[in-house]
Amino acid sequence: MALAQLKPQSSDQILLVVDDREENLVAMEALLSDSPWDVRTVNSGEAALQCLLDNNVGLVLLDVQMPHMDGFEVARLMRGNPATRYTPIIFLSAIAHTEDSVLRGYATGAVDFILKPFDPQVLRHKINVLLEHERNRHELQLLSKQLDSARAFNASVLENAAEGIVVVNEEGTINFVNPAMARMLNGTVAGIEGTPILDYLETSGIPTSWKDSEFYKHWLRGEAYRLHDASLRAVSGQVLPVALSSSPLPRLQRSMVILALDMSVVRNLYAQLESQAATDALTGLLNRRGFHQALESNLARLDRSGKRMAILYLDLDGFKRINDSLGHAAGDQVLRQVGDLLRSSLRPYDVLARMGGDEFTALLDGLEHPEDAARIAEKLIELVSVRHRVDGMDVTLGASIGIASYPECGRSVDGLMRAADMAMYEAKRAGRQQYRFFSPEMNGRARSRLMLEESLRNAIEQDDFVLVYQPQVYLETGKLRGFEALLRWEHPVSGTIAPNVFIPLLEETRLINRLGDWIFRRGVQQCCDWRPTFGDQVVVSLNVSPVQFGMPQLVEDLRRVLLELGLHPRQLEVEVTESALMQDLDTTREQLSQLRALGVKIAIDDFGTGYSSLAYLRHFELDTLKIDRLFISNMLSSPKDAAVVSTIIDLGWNLGLEVIAEGVETIEQRDWLLEHRCHIMQGFLVAKGLPVAETAHFPAQIDWDVYRKP
Ligand code: C2E
Ligand code: CA
Ligand code: CA
Repeated sequence: MALAQLKPQSSDQILLVVDDREENLVAMEALLSDSPWDVRTVNSGEAALQCLLDNNVGLVLLDVQMPHMDGFEVARLMRGNPATRYTPIIFLSAIAHTEDSVLRGYATGAVDFILKPFDPQVLRHKINVLLEHERNRHELQLLSKQLDSARAFNASVLENAAEGIVVVNEEGTINFVNPAMARMLNGTVAGIEGTPILDYLETSGIPTSWKDSEFYKHWLRGEAYRLHDASLRAVSGQVLPVALSSSPLPRLQRSMVILALDMSVVRNLYAQLESQAATDALTGLLNRRGFHQALESNLARLDRSGKRMAILYLDLDGFKRINDSLGHAAGDQVLRQVGDLLRSSLRPYDVLARMGGDEFTALLDGLEHPEDAARIAEKLIELVSVRHRVDGMDVTLGASIGIASYPECGRSVDGLMRAADMAMYEAKRAGRQQYRFFSPEMNGRARSRLMLEESLRNAIEQDDFVLVYQPQVYLETGKLRGFEALLRWEHPVSGTIAPNVFIPLLEETRLINRLGDWIFRRGVQQCCDWRPTFGDQVVVSLNVSPVQFGMPQLVEDLRRVLLELGLHPRQLEVEVTESALMQDLDTTREQLSQLRALGVKIAIDDFGTGYSSLAYLRHFELDTLKIDRLFISNMLSSPKDAAVVSTIIDLGWNLGLEVIAEGVETIEQRDWLLEHRCHIMQGFLVAKGLPVAETAHFPAQIDWDVYRKP
């Protein structure tokens, strides 16, 4: 604590002897020579006063009769000075005194009188007692000084604290309030002291009676109490958010001290964060979450009113092209422009949001007929489908809109959103720049899609999916490299369904993510199960769809599965199609480097079929190229396809990548590939996708001669 500690006096006190006669001083010095006191002698009143001012004198033995300034005069002057006012004086006098003179002595401030000749014992005794008194007085003075300064310190702390501090007695009355609290309450210290604390507590949970309050109950138990989201009601009626804490003062004081912390800044920040969480940073419109909230509260309201509304789901046509060719900054600019356009063309109370990417939604309230929504959709398509100027370049956009009307297309947030999304998808399919209503009667396709989606959902739940495994074999040695996992849907009625049929649907409905996780687990577990048969070099290749590849949590999901099932990352290969890689180059680069950091192998699937330039290959971290089946099946008859295949193989050698030929069906194709130094093959020549049970019987090394006709 910052209190200046006052030092106590030193123990050897100064004893001042004043006498004009030298022999008396000598005698006195001799008499007191063995005493513990520091004896000083002077021979005049003036010298005595000087010594008193210079030193901290504990007691003065003062001769009465002295020339120039007698003892009475010295005493009078001493009493006039604050520094010596209380210093005790014993008068020494040789002559027989009248009572008058003794009284005069006392009147000038003597505390005692001793007549010469005196008894040395008595003198010593008197000196002792008086010095003791003096010491006590001094200590008292010191204590009182310390007390004053402590009090001033405490008062200044309370006075200057930034937090509000009140002391409340057991009746709930404010006994003390500091200036900060008075300011928070918009009142004066005098005006607030003596009033009940409950007058200023706004919080709804606080009862109207003090004795029922948690403050009082905690105080009774001698416990502190904290209330983090309280509010104070100021004298002027304003409400101020605060955090309160009360703690009991020592029992005897029968009161508690309550601290109030102003939370307005913190709460404002919080509110800001909340609104940010519901806002799309790019366009300032609501985001997906904000839109869902708005829709939810609108539904609750409409349920009671019986009114109708519509949701428009708008997806830009041609946005990806702009984003890819002009870059993200230009893409962002387009999205902002479209956001502004939409906002300016809707009514102020229509809710508008960006769902992410190039998808926008609008909630149109208070519609008379569903056709009203159609007119608005038409207008929006017209507005968006014009030339936009971005970075000095003209770009053309389009929009497709799906409409879901309430209550016909659903009564829940999810149902309505899904219906609008599906209708939008239909609009796109119908050739873009169109709008489509969703309703089961108007849209038979959507309905069957819905049914298929429903049965896909069921299939996931009922485990109707299985993985089959197609072997990958080194061309030269015939050794097994690993297996590619291929998905099959064992439909209870339709039999096995090929992935080309249902994977696009899984992607559209985002169900691929749920299934994707299942595939990771199954495939990784299978690779662990092969260990006793094929060792710990065998690789399992898993296909990752473009939608999955775009998901930020892909790497985390894989890492978790690998860790949980205990597979070495090098035994897992992820196959991504060329077109998935080209969707968004920044995401791709980020995703690939994370996959690389995880330690899994990365293969480009269907290589050669995409529109990618070879330039990007240099920038991506890859392990494997898979030559598309199309080229393999044609290469022996078409020199052009043969050129493509051998070029890809050379490319693999040059970049240090493994090359896998897919769809190898004949031994001639195998021989050709080996001749052209291709590493690995996969295809019906060796095996189709095998059920799990059959994989164990696949040889760890095959004998190519078996495939030749004798
Ligand atoms: P893909 O990744 O190119 O898979 C290879 C396809 O070629 C498989 O068809 C396989 O059965 C077939 N194939 C292999 N060797 C030969 C051959 O010698 N001749 C012929 N004619 N075909 C051969 P499948 O199983 O029908 O898979 C089709 C596509 O579905 C796959 O193409 C892949 O893109 C996707 N797919 C399969 N399983 C999964 C999966 O688990 N997840 C994801 N996201 N996609 C999968
Ligand atoms: Ca594949
Ligand atoms: Ca492929």
